[in-house]
Amino acid sequence: MKTAKKYTEVYIDIRALKIDHAFDYRLPPELAGKVDIGSIVLVPFKNRQEIGYIAGFKDESSFNEKQIKDISRILNSKPVFDMARFDLIKWMSSYYIQPPGSVLKLFLPPGRKSKSEFMSPKVKLKFKDHIRLDETALGKASSKINFKRAHSQKKIIDYLKKYGGVSRAKLLKESGSNASSLKSLIDKSLVIIESKRQKRNFYYDFRIEGQQKSDEITLNKYQVHCIDAINSRIGKGEFCKFLIEGVTGSGKTEIYIAACKKIIQQNKKALVLTPEISLTPQLFSRFESEFGSRVAVYHSNMSEAERYERWLDIWNGKVEIIIGTRSALFTPVSGLGLIIIDEEHDPSYKEGTRVRYNSRDVAMKLAGILNIPVVFGSATPSVEIRYRAGLEDDFSLLKIPMKAQSKHKLSREIVDLRKIDRAKEDTVITRRLFTAMREELEKENKVIIFINRRGFSNFVICSKCGDIPKCPACELSFNYHRDRGRLICHHCSRETRFTGICPACGEKNMFLYGTGIQKVESKLKTRFPDIPIYRMDSDMTSTKKSHQDILLKFAAPGKSILIGTQMVAKGLDIGDVTLVGVINCDGMLGLPDYHMNERVYQLITQVSGRAGRKHKKGRVIVQTYRPDSNVIKHIMDENYGLFYKQELGDRKELGYPPFSNIINMIISGTIEDRVKNDAKKLFSETGKAIKAGSTILGPAPAPFYKINKFYRWHMIVKTGKIDETGNIISDVIKQFKKYKENRIIIDVDPVWIL
Ligand code: ADP
Ligand code: ZN
Repeated sequence: MKTAKKYTEVYIDIRALKIDHAFDYRLPPELAGKVDIGSIVLVPFKNRQEIGYIAGFKDESSFNEKQIKDISRILNSKPVFDMARFDLIKWMSSYYIQPPGSVLKLFLPPGRKSKSEFMSPKVKLKFKDHIRLDETALGKASSKINFKRAHSQKKIIDYLKKYGGVSRAKLLKESGSNASSLKSLIDKSLVIIESKRQKRNFYYDFRIEGQQKSDEITLNKYQVHCIDAINSRIGKGEFCKFLIEGVTGSGKTEIYIAACKKIIQQNKKALVLTPEISLTPQLFSRFESEFGSRVAVYHSNMSEAERYERWLDIWNGKVEIIIGTRSALFTPVSGLGLIIIDEEHDPSYKEGTRVRYNSRDVAMKLAGILNIPVVFGSATPSVEIRYRAGLEDDFSLLKIPMKAQSKHKLSREIVDLRKIDRAKEDTVITRRLFTAMREELEKENKVIIFINRRGFSNFVICSKCGDIPKCPACELSFNYHRDRGRLICHHCSRETRFTGICPACGEKNMFLYGTGIQKVESKLKTRFPDIPIYRMDSDMTSTKKSHQDILLKFAAPGKSILIGTQMVAKGLDIGDVTLVGVINCDGMLGLPDYHMNERVYQLITQVSGRAGRKHKKGRVIVQTYRPDSNVIKHIMDENYGLFYKQELGDRKELGYPPFSNIINMIISGTIEDRVKNDAKKLFSETGKAIKAGSTILGPAPAPFYKINKFYRWHMIVKTGKIDETGNIISDVIKQFKKYKENRIIIDVDPVWIL
């Protein structure tokens, strides 16, 4: 839509909440017809030159002709955004209460050198000689070549016949030939050399042996039903939503692949989001074996150079299927026809630092803007999405109640930690768990031990009855403040004295909760000295390859143990894992956050799903102080439906999402008093501004009160009218006069309130 209109609306790439609209600039005649929506330009702004993005064209402006300045020059005429992405940016900016400049940055190519050099990144592209056979020349010449004498040349030709084109280095190394033979083939024009941009090979090069391809699999009736439902809506230009609620191992990937095949037939593109690609190498491996180079990965763990190359490929329309983490959502895919959100419930979809968006919800919005289908998949859907799937128009719930491969039902067992005498028996690796581990390892099977890191010892639990003291007003657990010997509610500031006596059963058996992963590792090493033991947590997997290495080692044939946090819960599809042990699932139940029941349900179900995936029977042992709690019961019965019902009821009673939206407002700074003062002031100003139907709780010290020298206070707004309240809060913040050094963080729809 190149245009000859006189004025342009330009978004400016600066970060300030106050600048939340486009500015009018004049399009000088010599630039007319050269720019489009999404083109990148340089414009005068205040006394500087700033980067701007063209968001629209018009014949008239409401500003005085004299005030309007000219666009200085074009930085890049090929648009980086289209109108749909602009609409998305506007929505994100308003919904998440963030400056458009910050939201806009999410959509820019990675690795830019400086502001004004838009498309000349720091990244150097690498080129390499690529060698292939000239089949025609070879056909003509073959009778004349005496391969008895040119044995070494024949090796090259045979290699290239078998494997197609390769790089020079690889060819020489793998064909067993030499450079002079290659040269003579080049001289005879039997092979062709081209300079090709070298694709960087990423660490997700994790090929899983023995994975079945789609044409080797007979889909079951549930899968067929899902595929029919989804594929019949692809390419219709309609916004529709699907939630596949399929137990772990139910073969959801096959459904995604079938949908992507349909997309390719229609010459459209698909985006497949996964919470952490590095943890689901199988997903990529499966897609790659099906689609080859038509699929590309894009995620934040890749180096800047890798990401930039991918970004270019996507921008140039070279990739048809993009698998990635949340940042992939913002790549410039044109002709997008389908978005898939695997493991929809995962809190990693939420960006937790800069713009606090949830890519799941942003994806849904984008699908709405583009009028395309969006598919959510999970064994343990989030309460919010599950609720909407039962309620909204054109949001279909598709259930798969059984595993695709295994005929065996998982056996689930509880170890009641209250009954264990702490003086006589270890409560970390109980006798029951130890015996089960030994049995499975003796059969050459593998064991996963899951420990929850999010459990830390600032809440208390009774070792006799499993009670966790909670604030009567918020129904959220009290935090223990050792210095004051008190239990404090981090939501409403109510407090009570901590005596060590359990308020529920009267016994003096309260203790601080928490066991570290290293402790578990060292215990296992003494108990199983001859078994390979691997540990996987964020400390161990900081380097790019390390976690893949750990997984490969663990997946190698033979008995072994993998200990891990959240990370091991996701995606692993290793056939020989027959036992999953959960050391402590109570840790999270004690956290002062209404999401916790849901998180525990999800995590334990997901990690249990790692056992018995193929032909062997799987078992799960869960150690808990709270075997009677409803969450644990529903987990043991594998009854997501009942869990969901119960949780929905509780949330309704307390007015938590999905019956409201929550906005967490955090003030942080290094001077304790000033943070507290600002918190009180912001609380009162927000309180006055919000309307009936919204409430504000707080202000209170945040559960993580001090992070990295920064004190944190927060307040929570619950609202039934998110858009209206969001606007009100945005105005309050714009007017708010805070201490300069303090920061205000707004988190709309938080996934943790910590
Ligand atoms: P999910 O993502 O639902 O947990 P996956 O898609 O990873 O499950 O599938 C689990 C395993 O089942 C994979 O190894 C896959 O190849 C296999 N599988 C999928 N569908 C079928 C089927 N219809 N018959 C046999 N095996 C299947
Ligand atoms: Zn409270």
